Amino acid sequence: MFDQIYRKAVLTVANNKSVEGLVRKQAWGVAQRFVAGETIDTAIAAVQDLHKQGILGNLDLLGEFVDTPEKANEFAEQILALLNAAEGKGFPIYASIKLSSVGQGLTVNGEDLGLTNARRILRRAKALGGFINLDMEDHPRVDITLAQFRTLVGEFGHDTVGTVLQSYLYRSEADRDSLDDLKPNLRIVKGAYLEPATVAMPNKADVDAAYRKLVYAHLKAGNYCNVATHDESIIQDVKHFAIAHGIPKSQYEFQMLYGIRRDLQKSLADEGFTVRAYIPYGPDWYGYFSRRIAERPANVLFVVKGMLKG
Ligand SMILES: Cc1cc2nc3c(=O)[nH]c(=O)nc-3n(C[C@H](O)[C@H](O)[C@H](O)COP(=O)(O)OP(=O)(O)OC[C@H]3O[C@@H](n4cnc5c(N)ncnc54)[C@H](O)[C@@H]3O)c2cc1C
Repeated sequence: MFDQIYRKAVLTVANNKSVEGLVRKQAWGVAQRFVAGETIDTAIAAVQDLHKQGILGNLDLLGEFVDTPEKANEFAEQILALLNAAEGKGFPIYASIKLSSVGQGLTVNGEDLGLTNARRILRRAKALGGFINLDMEDHPRVDITLAQFRTLVGEFGHDTVGTVLQSYLYRSEADRDSLDDLKPNLRIVKGAYLEPATVAMPNKADVDAAYRKLVYAHLKAGNYCNVATHDESIIQDVKHFAIAHGIPKSQYEFQMLYGIRRDLQKSLADEGFTVRAYIPYGPDWYGYFSRRIAERPANVLFVVKGMLKG
């Protein structure tokens, strides 16, 4: 309950325009811990850096409130530019996209623009041997995202496109079951949005229990699972579950956010697990940054200290 109140308070303050102005000006130094710069080149350099430590990258161009077809097409072009720039740089091409950023919900020529642009991006990714993950956003988008995921797996295959389920949503267990026929590559997360108690579990212990259940069910069904969490007790439990059920390390990986629990990312990689860091970049970093701050009280102090240092 405290978690919820704290998260809501931080996000409410962060969404205030004058706070945004102040933080944007003062906190870029701090934000760089969580965001790999504003350009494609800085993002690629961050992946190369992690690659040297045995950690893979998952690139994410940040962008929110894309509300016109022109902005959505421009955003898709920037993702295509990223894929092209990443070709031949010595690491596997892997990126995440939010369908809302490329036009989901906007109809152009009788088709959802998010789907049209996702196809363009996937065509290029497939040609480069890359992988694209469709991030999961707030709950009104789950139905359309899963429907579009189903269409895209049919066209490009489960080794080119994956998506995400959020354990805080009551519906996710049934969603996972319903996707099983696709043998989907799924990332399991707890969920990052402020959701009403009618759709999402308000109690953290329930969200954690649902998380374990989703991962175990997905692994037992023989599918590839991206265990995306910084929760050490869950990570330990997943390792034990995999050993107990004879699930090989090649059937799952651990994913964490860039700049968070770097020690844990490194130690898992050293143990021989596939570890992938989610690397956000781009000029539109503020919304992402405030969500990371809202996740943990200690991060607010970290920001304030950074701002005082100038
Ligand atoms: C690779 C990846 C992809 C994601 N994709 C999505 C997505 O598509 N849709 C979506 O809704 N959510 C996504 N998320 C966010 C996710 O839903 C959670 O909000 C976030 O991961 C925090 O939950 P946790 O699993 O780490 O567990 P928690 O129980 O929140 O935290 C576990 C431990 O990690 C530490 N920790 C957690 N967050 C931070 C932080 N910001 N700074 C420092 N320490 C921290 C905590 O202090 C605690 O000790 C993603 C997360 C990851 C790692």
